[in-house]
Amino acid sequence: MAHKDYYDILGVSRSASQQEIKEAFRKKAMEHHPDRGGDAAKFKEINEAYQALGDAQTRAQYDQYGSSFEQLRRQGFQGAGFDPREMGFDIGDLSDLFGGLGDIFGFSARGGQGRREARGRDIEIEVGVPFEEAVHGATREIELEKINQCARCGGSGAEPGSGFKNCPTCGGAGKVSKMTHSFFGAIQTVTTCASCHGIGKYPEKECGSCHGKGVARGKRVLKIKIPGGIDDGGTIRFAGEGEAVRGGKPGDLYVQVRVKAHKDFERRGNDIWSRAVIAFKTAALGGVVDIPTVDGLKELKIPASTQSGTVIKMKGLGVPHLGSGGRGDHFVEIHIKVPEHLSRQQKKMLEDFEE
Ligand SMILES: [Zn+2]
Ligand SMILES: [Zn+2]
Repeated sequence: MAHKDYYDILGVSRSASQQEIKEAFRKKAMEHHPDRGGDAAKFKEINEAYQALGDAQTRAQYDQYGSSFEQLRRQGFQGAGFDPREMGFDIGDLSDLFGGLGDIFGFSARGGQGRREARGRDIEIEVGVPFEEAVHGATREIELEKINQCARCGGSGAEPGSGFKNCPTCGGAGKVSKMTHSFFGAIQTVTTCASCHGIGKYPEKECGSCHGKGVARGKRVLKIKIPGGIDDGGTIRFAGEGEAVRGGKPGDLYVQVRVKAHKDFERRGNDIWSRAVIAFKTAALGGVVDIPTVDGLKELKIPASTQSGTVIKMKGLGVPHLGSGGRGDHFVEIHIKVPEHLSRQQKKMLEDFEE
């Protein structure tokens, strides 16, 4: 195998400082990261070069042994993940760049750190709500068919009253660490235990309901509250009401509210608009009419000489502002009903009026 020059790969001189090597690596790794469309082989090569040059001590060994270093390195790292933490690698910086160390080096999850904790699936559903209920708020009972935590064992997988035994592979830790002795010292790799998938324990007697799984598919009835003021398409999140998963967090439930259109009311922001047809006489002389609102029938004073198309505001009878105390208004567009059948006398009066 041809000897690779790690300095060439990172594009730095042999006299570059550790800081310059680190910066060169970050730049190259960004450029060639497979998630960003880079070449995986090239990316691997860059990592390899940085593994050798990123640490002053291994770099000195590389400088001294050249190609034999590469061979020794290969023997040393075979099959094991390389742990950059052992090499003084700046993990924080790279996590920021790539959203997790595992993404760069293809590591398996490092148990106990929470980053790769199992999480149940999210559930999304739609709920139809009549116009008035979206304004005032409502509660709904919904039935979901989903994976739930087993009620009998509380998710532990063990028959109530029975205990647990440690996983024989990991001794209950949920992770296995592997020590690799290599040319430049012992390297420890920690991976999630493949036998117990990181849980660490097996029930002594499996739960009779879920057969040790800790979760079971079934129906669950949930009472949900729909807040007053929610608009069509608004989504409410119920944390932890998604699907359960053994040894991890349940997902969330997302309820998207579909507000049914109303035959008389139209929502515009937090205001409600409607039309009212009033008598010719009321428009001319003024009066009081009953207007349907989301709070029931309300009296509206019509001033004398009201024209058709006039809009009158009924304050505070609109939609509540979600999450704050205020409320929109109700606007009524007035239309005047012209009498259809007029007696001769009435016609005469109107003609006189026009003059
Ligand atoms: Zn285990
Ligand atoms: Zn159970």
